[in-house]
Parts: sequence; C-alpha cells; structure tokens
Amino acid sequence: MFDQQTALGFANTRLNRPSGVVEKLGDPAIASLWLEQSAGYRQPRGLKRAEFERLLEVRDGAQRLLRSRLAGQSPGADDVRLLNEASAAAPVAAQLDATWNESLRFSRSGSAEPQSLDELLAALATATISLAADASVDLAECGADDCVVIFERTDPRRRWHNDRCGNRMRAARSYARHKADAAQT
Ligand SMILES: [Zn+2]
Repeated sequence: MFDQQTALGFANTRLNRPSGVVEKLGDPAIASLWLEQSAGYRQPRGLKRAEFERLLEVRDGAQRLLRSRLAGQSPGADDVRLLNEASAAAPVAAQLDATWNESLRFSRSGSAEPQSLDELLAALATATISLAADASVDLAECGADDCVVIFERTDPRRRWHNDRCGNRMRAARSYARHKADAAQT
C-alpha cells in the first residue's frame, strides 16, 4: 500500500535542523491531518494520546533506522525490534492484478485501507523496512544549509532534496561570489 516515498515522508516528519527542530506531527490533531493527507488514513474519533505516542515512537525508530543506513552503520537492535514488531502487528497480503500491479490487502478486513492505527503503522513499517533493506536505493541527506531531509538520490550528482533547496544554495553561492568580486575591485 505504501511506497518508499511515503516511508521517506514519514521518517522526514521530524527534522532536527541546526536552526531548530521542525515537528510535523506536533500534536494528535496535526498528526491526524498528516495521516489523512499523506497516508490516506482517517480516524473519525481522532487519535488518542497513546496512539499518538505510538505513532511518534515508530516514526522516530524509522528515522533512526534510515540514519544508521546513511551513516553506513548497522541498524540499532532496538530500532530493528520496534520496526519488526510494528510491521508484524497487522499482517497484510500482497495482491497481484492482471496488469502486474501489486497492492496490499489488510487481512482482517480484506480492505485496501487500514482499519486501525496498528494496521496503518504496520504498512508504514513494512514500507520503511523495504526501503532500508533495498540495496539499490541510494539514500542521502540533503546538502543544503539547515536542511536534514533524507531523500532517495536517483542521480549520483544530486545533492539537494528538492529544487527549492538547490536554488537556495545556488543563490547563496552566487551571492558569495559577487561579494568576493566586489571586495577585490
Ligand atoms: Zn533540502
């Protein structure tokens, strides 16, 4: 159900920038909105405090796991356990259709949509594990100042996670160059 981009988006919901932490799942209401918009999960009664804390726990584990891979280290034992447990909480079944597309069905309901936060976290953990374990995925951290977003580098020369960061860094470099030129004349 979730692709590797969703797994990256999930891990990137907390950005520990040099200038300060950006938390995109700041409280249960904001987290509910993110789950609905980015993961297609609607919880009509909203997230309970314990569910919200579980969401952050799995997210933090997912991010640490990807950061270990970025650093070329082995994954932390606690993070492996956390992600494996979350993934096993709600078994999903892969379903193939006639056009070679794969989708996941949540086994309890036979539905394409997760019916509980545990099922949703299972799907996010599954996507995170498949991303982390995929040796063909080149993970990198954005090279722009004050940006710590983890992204998949599809071109080995790519240093920025998006155009905005690239333009920002090019503008900063060109400004520094002009300033240096002006200082010489
Ligand atoms: Zn960036």
